[in-house]
Amino acid sequence: MNIQDIIAKKRDGNKLNKEEIKYFVSEYTNGNITDYQAAALVMAIYINGMDKEETTNLTLEMAGSGDVLDLSCISKNVVDKHSTGGVGDKITLILMPIIASLGIPVAKMSGRGLGFTGGTIDKLESIPGYNTELSEEDFIKSVKNIGISVIGQTKNLAPADKKLYALRDTINCVGSMPLIASSIMSKKIAAGANKIVLDVTVGSGAFMKNKEDAIKLSNMMKDIGTLANRETVCVLTNMDEPVGYAVGNTLEIIEVVNCLRGNIPDDIKEIITTIGSYIIKLSGKNDDLEENKKMILENIKNGKAFNKFLELVQNQGGDIEYLNDVEKLEKAKYILPVISEKEGFVESLNAEKIGIASVYLGAGRMKKEDDIDKAVGIVVNKKISDKVVKGDILAYVHANDEEKAKEAVRRIKDTYVISDKEVEKEKTILGVI
Ligand code: URA
Repeated sequence: MNIQDIIAKKRDGNKLNKEEIKYFVSEYTNGNITDYQAAALVMAIYINGMDKEETTNLTLEMAGSGDVLDLSCISKNVVDKHSTGGVGDKITLILMPIIASLGIPVAKMSGRGLGFTGGTIDKLESIPGYNTELSEEDFIKSVKNIGISVIGQTKNLAPADKKLYALRDTINCVGSMPLIASSIMSKKIAAGANKIVLDVTVGSGAFMKNKEDAIKLSNMMKDIGTLANRETVCVLTNMDEPVGYAVGNTLEIIEVVNCLRGNIPDDIKEIITTIGSYIIKLSGKNDDLEENKKMILENIKNGKAFNKFLELVQNQGGDIEYLNDVEKLEKAKYILPVISEKEGFVESLNAEKIGIASVYLGAGRMKKEDDIDKAVGIVVNKKISDKVVKGDILAYVHANDEEKAKEAVRRIKDTYVISDKEVEKEKTILGVI
């Protein structure tokens, strides 16, 4: 078997068998297949797709490419959560401390920014001192000691995904259903939880641009979950505009702190209560989804969720002074307003373009090895259906480069479509599968 034949087979639109997929995954993980050969195959998969059998085989091979954790020592049911990605998606950072504050163990491995979407690990690293690289042993120890740990994917966990994830990002091959399904489910299977809740994002700021594709992706991931004995629930959430208001690493940490202190935008409230209510149900704590929603809101109100967030950060070496007083966090040099030249109602603001503008400012990576600028990003001030008058501020650009700041202002102004007529608010939760 050789990689050239496998590339040619997929390039010509044919189906790969189990042995070919196994060969690719193991030889790429071992370094015997180069990045440029893997890039060619990934592009062929992106263009020609993979059927259910190929996607399942790819997922299981990737899951088995490194360690497979056993979390049964933590609890009978361990629930994991993952998002298919979005702009301003800070749900993990708000929701997981709430879940842990309810006594449900949280052992969460998250990712870095991918394409135009942000990543939880990049956000956490904007808290000075926070260590996202615990060993698997220390990760489990932390969950046992304080009930929560959030780290990056360890070196040995689904290493094939780790390499492919970074590669896909740099060759613009992220938004492919079999590649997303295998990436997410391989990590979730290897990470050891027996229950999985997936936030499947839909809209301009997501990789799935319409509900039909999001349903297809959800069913694909659920089927893989069933096969691997992982009960999986998918919640479809709207990503036509950024989640909440902030986009960018430090800016999102500030919004997380505000939410955990009780100042929660409506869309975030709906997402955390819906996804959270399923996490609580799958954990075996309580079957009643409405009661679960109340428990979530109660633990924000009584401060337990924020305290759990502080405990998480402190346990992983982070300096909680920056969270007790977010003014201490690093700020961008330039904060420029985006001013509306029109009057009316916000009809749309392309979340993907906002994500791209944020990456352009330095909040994400153009190349695999790029450093990111923690302080930069965008804070939207007007969202879909909001009324605006001429001169209103639509958004703020936070930048460390004046020319980039001005260019981002132009781009963001262009993404706002203002209608003369009143615009209805879009639904936040689009379904549960
Ligand atoms: N999140 C992942 O972990 N992988 C993807 O491919 C997309 C989102």
